[in-house]
Amino acid sequence: MKKRITAPREVLHELQQDYFICTKCKICQGVHVQFCPESRFWRNCPSGTRFRWDAYYASGKMEIARGLHINEIEPTESMRHILYTCMLCSSCQEQCYEVKQLHPTRVFELMREKAVREGWGPMPEHAALAESLEENDNPFGADRKKRGDWAKGLSLKSLPKEKAEVLFYAGDAYTSDPALRHAVRAAAQALLEAGLDVGTLGAREISDGSLMLMLGDRDYFETYAAQNIETFNGLGVKTIVTPDTHAAWVFKEEYARELDPDIKVLHISQLLSRLLKKGQLAPQKEVPLKAVYHDPCKLGRRFDIYEAPRKVLRAVPGLELLEFPRATFNSLCCGGGGGVRYAFPDYALWTAKERLFEAEWTGAEAIVTSCPYCVQMFNQAVETTGSDMKVYDLAEVLLESLGKEV
Ligand code: SF4
Ligand code: SF4
Repeated sequence: MKKRITAPREVLHELQQDYFICTKCKICQGVHVQFCPESRFWRNCPSGTRFRWDAYYASGKMEIARGLHINEIEPTESMRHILYTCMLCSSCQEQCYEVKQLHPTRVFELMREKAVREGWGPMPEHAALAESLEENDNPFGADRKKRGDWAKGLSLKSLPKEKAEVLFYAGDAYTSDPALRHAVRAAAQALLEAGLDVGTLGAREISDGSLMLMLGDRDYFETYAAQNIETFNGLGVKTIVTPDTHAAWVFKEEYARELDPDIKVLHISQLLSRLLKKGQLAPQKEVPLKAVYHDPCKLGRRFDIYEAPRKVLRAVPGLELLEFPRATFNSLCCGGGGGVRYAFPDYALWTAKERLFEAEWTGAEAIVTSCPYCVQMFNQAVETTGSDMKVYDLAEVLLESLGKEV
């Protein structure tokens, strides 16, 4: 029997209690309204709001899962569109779990795995991502030999040649997008400023595979997971920290059972907040900015990490922290979720623009977030609308307040 490398595999029919029980109450279409002051922002399912058919909301996809289960319907082209325009943002699950204890987003993830197994998923546009993984060990076409270039000039140790207590895993987006270089360098530099013993794998780092998992290709994901787990366990590190929110998600949710139990996995916002609390980082420089914090779906609703990034921002002198009407568990996806943007860029951008509109509504001068995909989406929205909004990664703001540059 094939060894299970990651979290125990589930198949769709194991969640039949969920999709058979769904009562189509449609609570999952919106936010927890008691925590959202403006009715303009009560709708919170990007695919349902954009495509305006019931099938694009969670209730419709639950019905499709039920229909597939009892062989009442066959997969169609429209069904694939419905499944792959879902951002897997977990907003529906956040709502439904409170009242019905169902897991709609998990159902949609497993529907994608079924689609890939049966050959009707993912979208043809996603093929380029898998081809790039084959060729470059990252999905975004970046040259594998240059993966470590972002760290040039920083005093990070080179693993596994040298030993370090902390592995800094930069991730696919930060290592391939030059526009994110300042942000990833800021994150690593902040850890060095705190006196931590940090190393990276440089060009030896490979993809975490999270994008393939989101698209439903668990087998492909597991090849990356297996290789990474073996590498990580052999490094002798005590902590793995990453600024890549999707990597943090798979490390914690999927890799954890095979990782050395002595290795802690942290998202960068958690570690920075702890270093501030211990006094190992002491921001002193004023950063006069009215900033609104955007909760990335995988960090917030998936891991309940809402406070750590806010603690970091509250420690920055001069920064006024604002909140979106849809904040914390009510957060709207940035448009970068579920691998949607690689097949449906216009719809992804439409979602990012809706979030940008909400940021402007708060009176903020800047959106700060802690996920490379959110930063990319907001930058794209700002560029196409000509908005004056600035977009920052959390670590960039913190490093500025430490009076340091990278
Ligand atoms: S997924 Fe949950 S909240 Fe949504 S319609 Fe079904 S039962 Fe209601
Ligand atoms: S995961 Fe997000 S996009 Fe998908 S159905 Fe639920 S709320 Fe809508």
